[in-house]
Amino acid sequence: MSVSLHVVCPHCQTTIRVPSDKLTQAPKCGQCHQAVFTGHPIDLTAATYAKHLDRNDIPVVVDFWAPWCGPCRTMAPQFGQAAKLLEPHVRFAKINTEAEQALGARFNIRSIPTMKLFLHGKELASQSGAMSAQDIVRWVNAIAPSAT
Ligand code: ZN
Repeated sequence: MSVSLHVVCPHCQTTIRVPSDKLTQAPKCGQCHQAVFTGHPIDLTAATYAKHLDRNDIPVVVDFWAPWCGPCRTMAPQFGQAAKLLEPHVRFAKINTEAEQALGARFNIRSIPTMKLFLHGKELASQSGAMSAQDIVRWVNAIAPSAT
């Protein structure tokens, strides 16, 4: 059975509909015609984060990080690897808390890296400290098992 999922395009921020059985078939945005999933975490800003957190029907994992943070840089390739493993069932995103200080405050980020898992705008879980790709995948699957 196929249901229609809303997914927010990371390129033009348009909310598109993707039949769930087409999710894994490299869907393209109807508006900008680019691939909706690229296998890479997307960068969210104050202008775009709310739409991605609220409108996606798939869980969204956000890595709150900063360029000066060593453990964040260590985790970045692991986070990217986890994105490759779980997309398109989960959207992976990053928020640079140095560039987007209001968002760090908005989400009460006290230490970085911190990962938060959202579904339909609701925060389901939060996890601080660098993790390996396998641990990130395990963490997401434990909280949002429908993801894979
Ligand atoms: Zn688009």
